[in-house]
Amino acid sequence: MNRTERKLRALSAAAEQNLVDPMAGFVDLAGVREAVEDLTKAFAPLGRVQHTVAAKACGLAPLLRFLGDLGVDAEVASPGETAVAEAAGLRGARLVLDSPAKTTAELAHALAEGTAVNADNFQELARLDRLVGAAPPRSVLGLRINPQVGAGRIGDTSTATAASKFGIPLRDNGNRALLLESFARRPWLTRLHVHVGSQGCPPELMAEGVAAVHELAEEINTEAGYRQVTSLDLGGGLPVNFASEDPGPTYAGYVATLLARVPALADGRYGFVTEFGRSLLAKNGFLVSTVEYTKVAGGRPIAVTHAGAQVAARTVLQPEHWPLRLGAFDATGTPKPGPDVPQDIAGPLCFAGDLLARERPLPLLEPGDLVLAHDTGAYYFGAHYAYNTLPRPAVHGFTVSSRGHVEFTPIRRAQSLAELVADAGGEFLGALPAA
Ligand SMILES: *Cc1c(COP(=O)(O)O)cnc(C)c1O
Repeated sequence: MNRTERKLRALSAAAEQNLVDPMAGFVDLAGVREAVEDLTKAFAPLGRVQHTVAAKACGLAPLLRFLGDLGVDAEVASPGETAVAEAAGLRGARLVLDSPAKTTAELAHALAEGTAVNADNFQELARLDRLVGAAPPRSVLGLRINPQVGAGRIGDTSTATAASKFGIPLRDNGNRALLLESFARRPWLTRLHVHVGSQGCPPELMAEGVAAVHELAEEINTEAGYRQVTSLDLGGGLPVNFASEDPGPTYAGYVATLLARVPALADGRYGFVTEFGRSLLAKNGFLVSTVEYTKVAGGRPIAVTHAGAQVAARTVLQPEHWPLRLGAFDATGTPKPGPDVPQDIAGPLCFAGDLLARERPLPLLEPGDLVLAHDTGAYYFGAHYAYNTLPRPAVHGFTVSSRGHVEFTPIRRAQSLAELVADAGGEFLGALPAA
C-alpha cells in the first residue's frame, strides 16, 4: 500500500473513531520508516554517517524516540529541544547542538554530556576555550561556516546569504585567515558545519556549500600537517514538493549531486553528519479539521475550519511561499464529488488574513465536512503558535495493515483548558491585586 492509500485509509478510520475533534495531526509511521531507509541507503557511499533529525521540524518526544530506534539521532537548537530529545532517550553523543544563541549553561551541559556542538561564531569559540580548559573534551566540537553561496527561493529560510545571521561568513575579508588560525590554536576543533538553507534551496546550491567547507577542511588539515578536521556536518535542507503527492528531490539524487560536485566525499577521509527535517517528515504527516460553518461574503464562499495560523503560521503569513494542498472530504472521510468552486478556507483565529487558502477550487464545503492539509508532518502541528490561546492539537501516529486495518497510537494529547490557563500565568492569579 502506498503513502496516498495509507493516508486515505487513515482519514476514514480517524473519522469513524472521532479522532478529528475538531482538529488533529496524523503521522504515517511506515512512511517515516521508509524515509529513514531511503536516507540511510542513499548516504551509504559516504561511509561513516551519523544521521540526525532536526528537532525543530517535529520535536514530539515519541516521534524522536521512534526515529532514535531506527538509528536516527537528533539535531537540537534550544534547551527545550534538548530536554525533549533527552527525555526521548537521545543523550550525549546522539545529539548535535546547533544554535546561534547558546548560553554558557547550554554549552556546559553539552560538554558534560558529550553532546556534539557546532559553534556559530568567534565569540562562542572563546567561550568554549574557557569551558574546555586543559582536558580534551568528550564532545565533538565544530564550527558553523556560512559559505555565502547565496539565497534559494525563500529569503527567510536561506542561511547562506552574504549577510546571514548564521555561522562564520567565509568570504568576508580576513575570515579565512582567522579560521585557519582558530583551528591551529584549538586542536580540539575537529568538525566543520554547513547548512545552506531550508526549503527552496536547490540541491546544486546545497552542494556548493558542501564544496566550500570541504575545501576549507582540506586547507586546515594541510596547514595543520595532520588530519585535524575529521568530520563534516552537512546540515539538512533537502526541499520537499508541496504541489503533488510526488515527493520531489530524493536523497539518492542529492547524494549523486554532492558526489558529482565533490567526488572526494567518498574517499573515506571524513565522517559525516546530516540534519534533515522536512524531507523526512513533511510528506508523512497531515492535518485534518472539521468545517464548523460556511458562508458567502462578497460573492465568495468561505469555509471556516479549526486549522489556521496556530498550526500553519508560515502558510497563513506568507501564502506565496508556503502554499498547502488541501483535500475536501465528507464527515466519513470520503472525497467529496465536484464540481470545484473557488473558496476561502479559513482558520479560527481573530484576524482576517487567517486563511489556509484563498479562492481555492474545491468541491463546495458544508458544515461537518473535513478538510485535509497535506504534507504537514514537519513544521506544522509540531510548531504551534499560541495566538488566541488556541490549544495544540492532538497528534496520532498510525500504521495500516496489508488488509487495510488502521491502528492509531497517540503521540500527543490536545492541550487541555487547564494547561492553557497554566500557560497564561495561572499560578500567579493572586499576583496583581488592584485594590
Ligand atoms: C532547520 C535546520 C535543519 C533542518 O532543515 P530541513 O529543511 O528541515 O531539512 C538542519 N540544520 C540546521 C542547522 C537547521 O537550522
